[in-house]
Amino acid sequence: MIPPGNTLGMLGGGQLGRMFTVAARTLGYRVLVLDPDPGSPAGRIADEHLHSAYGDAWALEQMAARCAVVTTEFENIPAQTLHTLAGLIPVRPGARALECTQDRGREKAMIQSLGLETAPFERVTHKEQIKAALAAVGTPAILKRAALGYDGKGQVGVASLAAAEAGFDHLGQVPCVLEQRLPLEREISVVLARGVGGETLCYPVAENIHRHGILHMSIVPARIDHATAQAACRAAIQLAEALEYCGVMAVEFFITTAGELRVNEIAPRPHNSGHYTLDACVTSQFEQQVRAICALPLGDTRLLSPVVMVNLLGDLWADGEPRWGALLEHPAAKLHLYGKSQARPGRKMGHFCVLGDDRDRIITEAETLFAALS
Ligand code: ADP
Ligand code: MG
Repeated sequence: MIPPGNTLGMLGGGQLGRMFTVAARTLGYRVLVLDPDPGSPAGRIADEHLHSAYGDAWALEQMAARCAVVTTEFENIPAQTLHTLAGLIPVRPGARALECTQDRGREKAMIQSLGLETAPFERVTHKEQIKAALAAVGTPAILKRAALGYDGKGQVGVASLAAAEAGFDHLGQVPCVLEQRLPLEREISVVLARGVGGETLCYPVAENIHRHGILHMSIVPARIDHATAQAACRAAIQLAEALEYCGVMAVEFFITTAGELRVNEIAPRPHNSGHYTLDACVTSQFEQQVRAICALPLGDTRLLSPVVMVNLLGDLWADGEPRWGALLEHPAAKLHLYGKSQARPGRKMGHFCVLGDDRDRIITEAETLFAALS
């Protein structure tokens, strides 16, 4: 067990790293953040911030010398960095889990190898492969770059062979997956933790509403039946075990209009759809990440109240600061801002949660509060 007082290393300085840092410091740990951006949200509140590249040998030596364990908030940390660190100190989750999720093709193949279903997909690395791939998955389809995509970026909708080829050019002819666009009833996610000893604990399933490929709202409990929620949790645990995972991870699922559960993707870190745990659960996903990587017992994941989370994107800042009035006046609304100085369209600047006994009422309240911001 790594007790409070030790220093925890965080690769990546975004908002996930920042909320981890708050949780770790609350428990009495010190946090060292590595992120090249000197103004990174986590770096600004950490005990120490190394603003070096992820591959910088000196920075990695410093990290290994000062930290008891290293974790990540960002799946695209170069594999070499993880391997270098892993030779010196515990890295949780390990390089294998991150490497698997760094490539959509590899990730989906792993998911299917466990007998879990994804949307039908084909890998595309050369233009000549597109015709056969499209014939296999059918239209409509989505072409997604295999690496480095997030928040719907690096994806194009495809309705024809010509569109698929143009999309491949548009994405820069990088390796991609072409997948069938499923008719969706709903999207849900499971955030779970797996400890050093292999114990697992799921959070209540979140229902997620996306706009333009970016998460807009999470509703908890999700409006799904008990059997579907259980199947999603079982699948998420199966994936965590297959990855020999240590830490907090999330699994996104589609529920099709035919009621079928399909795995969409895995995030090897705390997840945007788990931010509700900060305000509505006994243990937040960030405290849980601290507990898991430090080999403390996992905390209770119980939901204390129905909750709705809404993301605040940079678009809201287009004409200056959003109008916070109604949100701050609401006695059961919780505002979280990430301390980012530049508000770009689509950039995650913060979120808020609304708590209340009546799920339908708080969904409406959250939409009203959101509309009042601009
Ligand atoms: P990202 O890594 O950007 O989150 P996702 O693969 O999760 O990429 O896609 C973002 C969103 O786009 C999904 O949450 C979903 O709303 C939509 N989407 C992606 N793939 C499909 C699909 N195969 N069928 C239907 N909708 C999809
Ligand atoms: Mg996603």
